[in-house]
Amino acid sequence: MMVAALIGLSLALLWALYRLQQHRSRLRLLNRTVRARRLLLQERQPETGETSWDALAEATNSIISENAELQQLRSGQLAQLQATLGTLREAVLILDPDNYVLMANSALHTLFPQTQHIIGERVETVLHSRDFQTFVDELRRGRSKPQTEMEFLTDTDSIWMQATGTIIPSLDGKPAEWALFVLHDVTRQKQLESVRKDFVANVSHELRTPLSIIKGYAETLLEGHRDMSEADREQFLRTIHRHGERLHLLLEDLLSLSRLEAKGATVHRESLKPISFTAAIVEDYRSRPAARAHTLEFTHDPVLPDLLADPLKLTQVFENLLNNALKYTPAGSTISIGLHRHGDEIEISVRDDGPGIPAADLPHLFERFYRVDKGRSRETGGTGLGLSIVKHICQLHGGRTWAESELGKGTTFRIRLPLNLQARTRNQEDTATA
Ligand code: ADP
Repeated sequence: MMVAALIGLSLALLWALYRLQQHRSRLRLLNRTVRARRLLLQERQPETGETSWDALAEATNSIISENAELQQLRSGQLAQLQATLGTLREAVLILDPDNYVLMANSALHTLFPQTQHIIGERVETVLHSRDFQTFVDELRRGRSKPQTEMEFLTDTDSIWMQATGTIIPSLDGKPAEWALFVLHDVTRQKQLESVRKDFVANVSHELRTPLSIIKGYAETLLEGHRDMSEADREQFLRTIHRHGERLHLLLEDLLSLSRLEAKGATVHRESLKPISFTAAIVEDYRSRPAARAHTLEFTHDPVLPDLLADPLKLTQVFENLLNNALKYTPAGSTISIGLHRHGDEIEISVRDDGPGIPAADLPHLFERFYRVDKGRSRETGGTGLGLSIVKHICQLHGGRTWAESELGKGTTFRIRLPLNLQARTRNQEDTATA
């Protein structure tokens, strides 16, 4: 009896052990397949016929299939999102709750070349802007302005961005913490704005001095002209006239510049004989009292093709350069005007043997209101716009201009204008001499 009971018990134990073993191996299989996201039924050998295990396998299979589908959908949507963001000109950035970068589009890499490996980095280590950091913090606290302009430092310079930020809403109702930012490059607008502000400030400054002189002298004349000597009165009137003239010149130059800079500005081109055209200007200058103490030379190639140019504007170029050469060189100086062909271009040069211009000033000479010697320029009625006008006229003719100078030796202004070589077949070559 006892033995039979023991055998019975042993058999029951063995059966239990066998079942446990089976469950263990199924659990191992379940674990393995779930980890590998493989379908359980494919792994499984013929069905066990045990309802509970088969049901579990079924349920696990459907979860894994669903998961695989969702995974595929997610990758597709992510690829689609990345492709869409890749076409944007604005930089897009997604940050996790700790401000580590989750996603960035290609515009961000273009605008900030140092961000090639930004994914997984803390944003402030790759994007250097204190304002942006504050913007991110304030957005998370729900206090940021909808759009803010801010400066970012790059390796060499700085760029301005208009930033928009938003918190990505969570789907499960928990507090949302991912943040999405769109950065729009406004550097060019900022630069233009600053040029405009500088220009307005410069014009106001240029107008203020002559206007206040005119006002002051006119008031003194009004109050005391009866008690004034004839000589004083005349001197006052001459001063008013001189500053009125200066205002007139300034407004003329400003108008010229604004016409030259206007969108769609064009030049009225005519076929000109460059040698005779320049010779007439040089002759006119030689007879002017302002050039009496200077020597004017004119050298040119013996023969030059016709030039398609606007005669009035080209005259203005010569006048601005010759007036400068006369103004900024002492009596007895020589001014040499040259006209030479260089391939498909004609070069006009105006050289003087005056004091010259420091190398540091040369790159700025053609900027509006830039003066090397401020006192001398104003004293001689300079507006600070002459060379800027020269530059714009050259550009409208498809040409370029620059200055070369050596301190104590003199300055040469050079202009290269393209020759329209078709015009040459219809016209005679210019061989006049000055
Ligand atoms: P401005 O009306 O003052 O002459 P410009 O634009 O014509 O203005 O010239 C800019 C500045 O360049 C001048 O103020 C002057 O300091 C310098 N400059 C121009 N031409 C010469 C020259 N031939 N020699 C020396 N300095 C010159």
